[in-house]
Order: sequence, then structure tokens, then C-alpha cells
Amino acid sequence: MKTHRPLFPDIDPERTLLIAGPCSAETETQLLDTARALAAQGVRIFRAGLWKPRTKPGGFEGVGAEGLAWMQRVRRETGMYTATEVATREHVAAALDAGIDLLWLGARTVSNPFAVQQIADALQGHDVPVLVKNPVSPDIDLWVGGIERLLNAGITRIGAVHRGFGAADRSGYRNPPQWAVPIELRRRMPELPLLCDPSHIGGRSELVAPLARQAMELGFDGVMVEVHCDPARAWSDAGQQLTPGQLQELTARLSPRRVADTSDGLAEMRLEIDRLDDQLVELLDRRMAVSRRIGRYKRDHAMPVLQSRRYEELLSRRTAEAEALGMAPEFMRSVLQAIHEESVRQQLSLPDDEPQPATAPRQRE
Ligand code: PEP
Ligand code: MN
Repeated sequence: MKTHRPLFPDIDPERTLLIAGPCSAETETQLLDTARALAAQGVRIFRAGLWKPRTKPGGFEGVGAEGLAWMQRVRRETGMYTATEVATREHVAAALDAGIDLLWLGARTVSNPFAVQQIADALQGHDVPVLVKNPVSPDIDLWVGGIERLLNAGITRIGAVHRGFGAADRSGYRNPPQWAVPIELRRRMPELPLLCDPSHIGGRSELVAPLARQAMELGFDGVMVEVHCDPARAWSDAGQQLTPGQLQELTARLSPRRVADTSDGLAEMRLEIDRLDDQLVELLDRRMAVSRRIGRYKRDHAMPVLQSRRYEELLSRRTAEAEALGMAPEFMRSVLQAIHEESVRQQLSLPDDEPQPATAPRQRE
């Protein structure tokens, strides 16, 4: 049970919370088309970024205040609550003036305590739900600190959104999940609604559903998912947005509690398999990252990539272990060979200038 006030009085906080909508509002037509498709499948909270924090200048930086009227139209015509990102006190004033129903603070904003405090000050005296995304770095205190600044400003409808963490190595996830960090947030603030944003973690549309399922398995309260009526032509984050149809497939499979309540044991076991496969993929991704580190070490010390004695040892030890557990040794041998082949491929194709995580200088606070 949550003792915080629910984000919205007519949305049951015990049910999976779903926020969906495009990364950015682009045109009135794009926004309305996407919103109508989502409302038709029962989505209650519609997201769209109006002010977009972009890594480099010159990209699409959002339509800005012009989109507020489009969001009002979404609300009027579909009945969905509207949500957008605010990064300055001017954004807060404009969004509140326009009656935007929910605000969120983005990862880059939460990385900067001055910016969070400025927003908290602007929110003082307003009763609006606010979500706080994790900061770019996996700094739990900075995340908790951001939430505390809003609590201190009198915001009582508040939630956290896990969107993964910046990493030098982006070949797997766009922002690796590092699940231990949101799990620690849940331990420190057990009453706080915790949502997952699988779109920004995955960075690729095919990773969104498995990440969302993994979050629900871990006990998250809901998800914020980027959905666009025509993802391939999106003006921002095109690779990670789902179509409304893909969202529907995802939500149909999202609620493990509901499946567990039925007597359908097969569905439960399939969910368990999906969860284990999710873990396998994440483990392989972590193993590849270590391989690349070893590859850089070998390169810097003029060692050959292939160390056949070490590989032989690894093969015989693991196949014996697998056999003792009842698996066919040939099976384990082919799994290890496939993994090894991919490790070697990655070690051979290391970019020359890739920074080394272990020795990269740390940012000062
Ligand atoms: C977004 O939600 O579109 C966004 C910019 O997210 P983040 O702050 O997590 O990068
Ligand atoms: Mn986005």
C-alpha cells in the first residue's frame, strides 16, 4: 500500500500505471493522431516533450510553448491527462498556466541541483503531480536529493522514473539499467511510486517490451513508454518509439500479477522463462563489456587477442560443470564457443579512441 497521495485520484495506484506518448510534440496532427490511438486503447496519461534537452545544438529542440494549445486539445478531445517535461521556472509557469496535468523533471535537469531547486521554488504552492527521473549518473543521493527538494516545496503527489544511466559504452543499451540503483531507491523510499522508462533505457524499440516486463517483475508501479503514430519519421528518438499497436501488445502482457492470479500455470512459467532470458541477455551484455576492457588491456600491452590456453581451460571447466548439472557437454561447448567468438569479434573491432572506463577521469561534484 502506498501512503503517498496517488498521482491522480481516479487512477488506482495499485494497478500498473501507464504513461505513453511521443518523445516530442512535433505537429498538432502528429500529437492528435498519436493521442487518439492511445486513448482508444485505454491509456489515461499522455506524455509529450515540448521543451527538449538535446545533447548538441542545432537538433530539434521542441516546439516549446506553441505545443501547449495542442496538449489542451488532446485533453479536451480524449479526456487523457497530459504530461510534459519542465526544465526551467519559465517552463513550469507556462505548463501550469496551460493546465498541463503532470510535470516531469528530465535526467539532465535532475543532474543539476540548482536547476531542480529553481523548479521546486516555482512549484511552491501548486498542487500538481511531479515525476523525477534519475540523474544521468548512477548517483542515488542526487536522485533522492531531487525528490527531497520537491517534497520540501510542498509537492505531495510525487513519483520517480528510472530511465537508465549514461555510460561510455553504449553498444548494448542506450542507458544501461543498473537495476541496483532503482532497487536502492525503493529501499530508501518504499512508499514512492516507482516507474520505469524502458524507451530511454533500451534506445531501440525491440528492447522496450522485455525491459518493461523486467521492471514489472521487479515490483515497479508502472511504465512511461514513448509511442509515436509513425516512429520511423519521429523528429527525436525515432529508433526507440513504439507504434500504438506495439504498445497494445506490450500492455497485454505486462501485468504479471494478473497472470499469476489465474490458474493458468503455463502462462506463469512462460513469464518466468522471459524473465530469465532477460537476465541472460543482460549478463551477456555485461560479459561483452568486460571482454572489451580486456581487449583494450591486451592492445595496450601488445598482447595477442587469442589466448588459447585460457580458452581451453575455460571450455573444459564449464562443460564439466554443465554436465554435472545434467546438461549435455556439447550443448555447453557450443554456447561457450558462440560467446567466445563474439568476444573475440568485439575485441578485434575496438575503436582506437574509445575511452577506458576504468581509467577515465571522474567528474568532480
Ligand atoms: C524524454 O522523456 O523524452 C527525455 C528527454 O528523457 P530523459 O530525461 O530521461 O533523457
Ligand atoms: Mn525521448
